[in-house]
Amino acid sequence: DMFVLAKLEQIIRPSYKKEDFVLGKKLGEGAFGTVYKASLVKSKSGKSDSELVVKKANQYGAVEVWMNERVRRACSSSCADFIDGFRESKRKGKGDEFWLVWRYEGDATLDDLMKDKDFPYNVEQMIYGRVDELPKGPERENRIIRTIMRQIMSSLKNLHAIGIVHRDIKPQNIIFSQDAKSFKIIDLGAAADLRVGINYVPNEFLLDPRYAAPEQYIMSTQTPSAPPPPVAAALSPVLWQMNVPDRFDVYSAGLIFLQMVFPNLRTDGSLIQFNRQLKRCDYNMVKWRQSTEARNNPDFRRGFELLDRDEGVGWELLQAMIRFKGRQRISAKQALDHPFFIRDGLLGLTFLQ
Ligand code: ADP
Ligand code: MG
Repeated sequence: DMFVLAKLEQIIRPSYKKEDFVLGKKLGEGAFGTVYKASLVKSKSGKSDSELVVKKANQYGAVEVWMNERVRRACSSSCADFIDGFRESKRKGKGDEFWLVWRYEGDATLDDLMKDKDFPYNVEQMIYGRVDELPKGPERENRIIRTIMRQIMSSLKNLHAIGIVHRDIKPQNIIFSQDAKSFKIIDLGAAADLRVGINYVPNEFLLDPRYAAPEQYIMSTQTPSAPPPPVAAALSPVLWQMNVPDRFDVYSAGLIFLQMVFPNLRTDGSLIQFNRQLKRCDYNMVKWRQSTEARNNPDFRRGFELLDRDEGVGWELLQAMIRFKGRQRISAKQALDHPFFIRDGLLGLTFLQ
């Protein structure tokens, strides 16, 4: 049925080719390909005002096309709107190239927004459509961060529910959708589809070490090497055997939560240092907190104050996300039922009464 649906879609949906697009500004360049802002050539669409994003990927782009098509059918609101993916043959001997096309969701990734020293207040208008009357302070910051976290965790929950593990969750891969007025996940280039065993990461260095959970090496070094494209799909016994591969993403999302709460952990250097310190604390967040508080660094005080609000529900959730053993980490679905998020719902009701 899924197969028939895919076939039907192929027939019904317009299929594009590279001549249909005008490429604009380069938005990014990764290990798998290059990303451009783009638009459709005028003659075909009648108007050329629609903004698009095109990724020109190497042969492994086939996997990314697969992931995007699954997401489009099964949980489209969680990720950037995928329009089409197609193969283009390059010059002789150069192999194939895959083009992926999405709707242009907006100018800002969570990374861009977090680099602004006004964060999280710079996000308030974008997500609520208005600015809070509360004075600036932990309560207001907590509310904004909680909304962002809820959006990230519910997208993750949806991806995990269809058996997709993203494996590259980081602020650069979370985009603010102007239309949806919420954050969406992008970049399924390193994702694994657990249902059919499609999983391809050429080597562990392609997983971002800043946001990777400690089990990164277990996953990648034992992953079979890539079969010949265009299949580019490997049955991964490792992923099948792993009890809770989805918790890899939860760890990464926990690090994003941490960076939102602690402004002094937002730079690459400080995150790398945090990772080193946490490892030294045997991945025990309580130990890390003790050593941090012992050093009496005022930069951390504000963040702990925020996490300790409402009987420490934030601190509790953060600890549940950042744990060494995947099995002991909270799932995205469970996280959404955590008091950190529930409390917000209750406050919302009180507000309505
Ligand atoms: P890679 O990280 O492999 O280069 P991404 O898919 O993450 O590729 O895209 C690179 C950058 O392009 C993103 O960080 C983001 O800034 C921008 N981008 C990607 N997809 C979209 C989209 N749908 N709308 C707007 N910007 C996007
Ligand atoms: Mg990316």
